Amino acid sequence: MRIFTNPAKLQNYIKNIKLKDKTVGFVPTMGALHQGHISLIRRARKENDIVAVSIFVNPSQFGPNEDLKKYPRPFEKDVKSCKSEGADVIFAPPPKDMYPENYLTYITVEKLSALMCGKFRHGHFRGVATIVAKLFNIVQPDRAYFGLKDFQQSVIIKKMVTDLNFPVKIIVCPLVREKDGLALSSRNVYLSCEERKRALSLSRSLQNAKNLIEYKNVKSAKKIISEMKKMILPNTDKIDYIEIRDAETLEEIKYIKKKVVIAVAVFVGKTRLIDNIVV
Ligand code: AMP
Repeated sequence: MRIFTNPAKLQNYIKNIKLKDKTVGFVPTMGALHQGHISLIRRARKENDIVAVSIFVNPSQFGPNEDLKKYPRPFEKDVKSCKSEGADVIFAPPPKDMYPENYLTYITVEKLSALMCGKFRHGHFRGVATIVAKLFNIVQPDRAYFGLKDFQQSVIIKKMVTDLNFPVKIIVCPLVREKDGLALSSRNVYLSCEERKRALSLSRSLQNAKNLIEYKNVKSAKKIISEMKKMILPNTDKIDYIEIRDAETLEEIKYIKKKVVIAVAVFVGKTRLIDNIVV
C-alpha cells in the first residue's frame, strides 16, 4: 500500500495505472474509519483492480462554529485499517495542498444543496461538491463509493457527476448500523454514555415510521413526522429537521406513494447527528 500526500504525484501515479488498463475504485472519507467506511472499501476491493481511499478532513465543508478542529484524526489506525482491507493507495493531502492561499473555485449543485442539511449548514454541500470534484480529478476513478448514511450528499454527488460529465460511476452502499440500531458515524465518539442512549431514539423513530408505512398503511407524511417527533423530542436537545422526501428528487411529499427517504438531523448534547431510512 502506498500513501500519497501530494495531489500531482498521485495524479501521475494513477495516470500510469490507467495506461495499463486497470480500473480504479475510490472511497472518499474524512478518516476516523469505522465499519461504515470499511463496507465501502470492501465493495471497492471486490469490483476494481486498484482501490484508493482518501483521508482528508475537508475544511471547506465545515461552518465557522462546527467541529473542524476537534474532528477525530486517528491517522495511524486508519492506515492499518486500509492496509488490512487490501487498499492499494491512501491519499492524505495537507489542507494547504488542496486549498492553496489563492484558491478561488467552488462548485454548487443548486437547489439540492439548499434543502435539508443545507438549510442548517450553509455552504456545507458547496464544500462537499468542491472537494469531491477535486478528488475525482486527482484520483480519476472508474467507480466511486458513497454511503447511504449521507443520503442528501449521495443525491448531490450523483447530480454533479451527471451535470458536469465526470467519467465515473457512483455506487451508493447501504447504511451500516451498530447492533442496537445507532448509525455508525465518526462523530459518535463525541457522545457520552447517556447521550448515546438518547441517540437511539433516531433509529427507533425511523424504524417505527417504516412500520407505520409498511404495516399500518399510514401514508400521511404529517402524521408520520408527528409520531417521530414524539419519540425524538424528549431525547434530543435540538431538532434541525424531520422530513420525508422523494428518494430520487428530494422533493417534499405530503402522501407516500413511491420510494421516499425519511431523514432526521438533531443535536444530542452538542453533537449533531443525522440518520435516515428509505421506504
Ligand atoms: P465521512 O468520513 O463521514 O465523510 O464518510 C465517508 C463516506 O463513508 C461517505 O460516503 C459516507 O456516507 C460513508 N459512511 C459514513 N458512515 C457510514 C455508515 N454508517 N454506513 C455506510 N456508509 C457510511
